[in-house]
Amino acid sequence: MADHAAPDSTTSLSAAAAATTADSSSAPPIVITPVPKRAWGDEEDDDVVESGDSSSAPSEYLESLKIQDDTNLEEPIDSNITAVTTGDTPYSSASTFEDLNLSKELLKGLYVEMKFHKPSKIQAISLPMILTPPYKDLIAQAHNGSGKTTCFVLGMLSRVDVNLKAPQAFCICPTRELAMQNIEVLKKMGKYTGITSECAVPADSANYIPMSKRPPITAQVVIGTPGTIKKWMSSRKLGVSCVKILVFDEADHMLGEDGFQDDSLRIMRDIERSSPHCQVLLFSATFDENVKNFVSRVVKDYNQLFVKKEELSLESVKQYKLICPDELTKIRVIKDRIFELADKLGQTIIFVRTRNSAGMLHKALVDLGYEVTTIQGALTTEIRDKIIKEFKDGLTKVLISTDLLARGFDQQQVNLVINYDLPLKYEPSPQATKYRSSSLSEPNYEVYLHRIGRAGRFGRKGKFLCLLYLGTCFSRLL
Ligand code: ADP
Ligand code: MG
Repeated sequence: MADHAAPDSTTSLSAAAAATTADSSSAPPIVITPVPKRAWGDEEDDDVVESGDSSSAPSEYLESLKIQDDTNLEEPIDSNITAVTTGDTPYSSASTFEDLNLSKELLKGLYVEMKFHKPSKIQAISLPMILTPPYKDLIAQAHNGSGKTTCFVLGMLSRVDVNLKAPQAFCICPTRELAMQNIEVLKKMGKYTGITSECAVPADSANYIPMSKRPPITAQVVIGTPGTIKKWMSSRKLGVSCVKILVFDEADHMLGEDGFQDDSLRIMRDIERSSPHCQVLLFSATFDENVKNFVSRVVKDYNQLFVKKEELSLESVKQYKLICPDELTKIRVIKDRIFELADKLGQTIIFVRTRNSAGMLHKALVDLGYEVTTIQGALTTEIRDKIIKEFKDGLTKVLISTDLLARGFDQQQVNLVINYDLPLKYEPSPQATKYRSSSLSEPNYEVYLHRIGRAGRFGRKGKFLCLLYLGTCFSRLL
């Protein structure tokens, strides 16, 4: 656990630090006030108390946050996952990968390539459910960074018949970046199996081939985004008659009204028509009540794993809040107080809400002489891929991102996540285009949890700091 200087380590869902000036050069009176630990989604107001005690200035406060070596990894958290099963099939949790009756090629992939020693809790519980006939559908919720990818990747690799040269397993993801990350995991884990795979994401312009000129897909596992998968399916290049396992990663978003519900349902229905026994797996760290109700009507006779909402926040990610009165102060605080710390902490992601915000912050920080890169959906696919590669290779340290990377992005060196803007709920508005944000009054708790889950991957402890930079108008919302 970090040796950090939170005023009282038992008080921090939001150990609050308030910076209350527009002019950071005139050494603002800054106060750090602990607020009681609250349950997630607690809407009560924060009391931010001011005093002139300069000993608690953020610079000192932040400098005292120490980083620990992470060589001694533990199980992420004592995750409280509740299982609800249907029917008479008994499932026993797997304490080793050998307990799962995996092929020797897959075990070699897990030990030699992935360097895993034993299954995490979600892997131990979900894999027997996924791999045991009659291969029931599964709705699986587990914490960010707890190893859900391995659950469905092992599920797909185990169920594919390597001798049948046709698509048998699909995984649908919300972004190109996540689809590409997941296929990398699949290739590494399945290295010794001979199973083939294809990533279904929009091609960059250099590699573009019109659909009509493409041969039919023979890869056994297809991982991609819903638009491209749908396009490949409707052009009849991607056959679905042999598909026996269909995975939705970030399933609440894939099946949520403000996500990819239409495309996802269409894909699911088309597959079910040709392959009525296809197993459907839905994975996410978050399922709000609406989505939970909806997905429980979409899948049939399913097993379920879930985590209580108030236990979803990662204990290993310490969260701090700095309230800034305006944009200029936010930038000044990043420059004067955070960057030095970020340098010591490894890699940092700064989340912003809009593309404009991303551009503005990028320019402001570059003008101040800092090296940052920025990713957002309006960039070309080539540039997006390049920025991700540089960040994954550790060549860049600070990445500004819209919520494009809020979900799923796995980079273990990310120890600092800054919420420059608060994620807000999008609601349909009759005047505006579909899903424009309405009154900007409600935070999006799910996106918030996913954003901070970019730090604290797989139980890495004691080196995470999440800073919220909020306009004062939002200070009461978290
Ligand atoms: P999430 O649950 O958020 O999808 P991921 O599947 O991306 O989490 O896994 C988070 C990190 O944990 C990854 O870097 C992955 O390699 C690592 N990981 C997953 N399972 C294990 C395991 N059994 N042992 C060690 N590391 C693991
Ligand atoms: Mg994931």
